[in-house]
Amino acid sequence: MESSDIEHAQRRIRESATVAPGEHAPTLPGLEKLSHARASLPDATADNYLAARGPKATFDHLIDDIVPAFNGENRSGRYWGFVTGSTLPIAELADNIVSAYDQNVQVHLPTQTISTEVEDAALKMLLRLLQLGEPEQWEGRTFTTGATGSNILGLACGREAIITSRLAEGSGSVGEVGLLRACAKAGIEEIQVLTSMGHSSLSKAASVVGIGRASVKHLPFSDAEPWRLDIDAVERELQRKNVASIIAISAGEVNTGRFATTGIEDMKRLRRLADQYRAWIHVDGAFGIFARVLPVKDEYASLHRVNAGLELCDSMTIDGHKLLNVPYDNGIFFTRKSSIQNDVFKNPNAAYLSTDNTSQIQSPLNIGLENSRRFRALPVYAVLMSEGRQGISEMMERMVITARAVARAIQSCDGYELLPDPSLNIEDDIHIIVLFRARDDALNKVLVQRINEGNKWYVSGTSWDGKPAVRVAISSWRADHKDAHDTVKESLTAISQAYKHA
Ligand SMILES: *Cc1c(COP(=O)(O)O)cnc(C)c1O
Repeated sequence: MESSDIEHAQRRIRESATVAPGEHAPTLPGLEKLSHARASLPDATADNYLAARGPKATFDHLIDDIVPAFNGENRSGRYWGFVTGSTLPIAELADNIVSAYDQNVQVHLPTQTISTEVEDAALKMLLRLLQLGEPEQWEGRTFTTGATGSNILGLACGREAIITSRLAEGSGSVGEVGLLRACAKAGIEEIQVLTSMGHSSLSKAASVVGIGRASVKHLPFSDAEPWRLDIDAVERELQRKNVASIIAISAGEVNTGRFATTGIEDMKRLRRLADQYRAWIHVDGAFGIFARVLPVKDEYASLHRVNAGLELCDSMTIDGHKLLNVPYDNGIFFTRKSSIQNDVFKNPNAAYLSTDNTSQIQSPLNIGLENSRRFRALPVYAVLMSEGRQGISEMMERMVITARAVARAIQSCDGYELLPDPSLNIEDDIHIIVLFRARDDALNKVLVQRINEGNKWYVSGTSWDGKPAVRVAISSWRADHKDAHDTVKESLTAISQAYKHA
């Protein structure tokens, strides 16, 4: 492709992706566009299956056939399913630079490329933004592919620490001798992960690191507050003989947005218990941790309260591609000691990967899963530089205000109730997630479908208390509280009326 063709193609990408101010891209493409895109995929039985179409025809195919069949995650502003975030324009630009320069950020090579130092600058800025403490207190820090990746790192580091601490000095690490031998030497018969409504990826991580999905134990505080961790139960579990434990804190929980701990006292107690029983504390703060950036105002006091003390953990998961609004895939992992990361993740005997290190920056390949890695720090760096604390705080506030406006709209419509408790206090309890259902069971069963086929707002289905429920998650910089309130109110009212007259 000539450079003028490339420039023209880039303009077409922007034209197709741009949404005019005040407009909303559709939340879903519709079945027709999906069928068209599907039919345009290569036919494995055709003679031209692997024929070269060339860059121009390929680009036309991407823009004309494939792109129209994408959902509105990034562009709609009312795509409230899952917790997807969207992409700030500055983050998209940075991501284009990442592709254009294709830096492989695996070895720290300070005389050859600045990329590892930019990555570290972004990680340090995040520590300060989230008020987690000083970089010296978090010498283990890296970018991952997302919260699942970070949870795997957290459980891998936790496993390493809780087993090694029970081994005699000099008898190796799990990374060296393996889980079975290390546990046998340490007299460990079971490893458990103690949590309350831990994200499903925590169980996946438990499987990946060899401790098993069944090792994840949910210790709910009560039926009314199942997301809250029962710390008395944690204490009892920690006392079991020949058992080593990781405590995994949901901050917040992905269905309700609520937090496993109620404040600094809970975290202090967990820290004391973990130290006493040689347990590891991992915080899954994928999206919830960003409540820390909200301004100090009465309406956010309770979010600040439940977020207090989370920095007392040993490791932490944070998502970049959710609330921080950078493109997929992007996650962050912090832990106290890079030596534990090294014990798990180092590449032994690879002299060609060695690094010239006077700056304390670790080569990413020895502290995380991947060797070759995308320069996924750059969009985060760009957002931090462009928005600063103030801009990010305002973006987070827009999300919370919008979620609360949605909750008020639901409350004001007959026939619907907020969950987990219809009398919940919107100002205290709602961060960016709103859970609700229709009071009529039959309508409730089809509610998600009715909302999503309207193509004005998109929600996820979930279940609560054994019944279907609707989950709204506001995680885009495009959040607009007035528009959200009116859209939800009109739509729910219309759905009720159509249902009554059906
Ligand atoms: C989304 C989420 C995850 C999984 O994150 P990915 O970025 O999808 O890998 C884990 N934990 C929590 C609390 C989440 O919200």
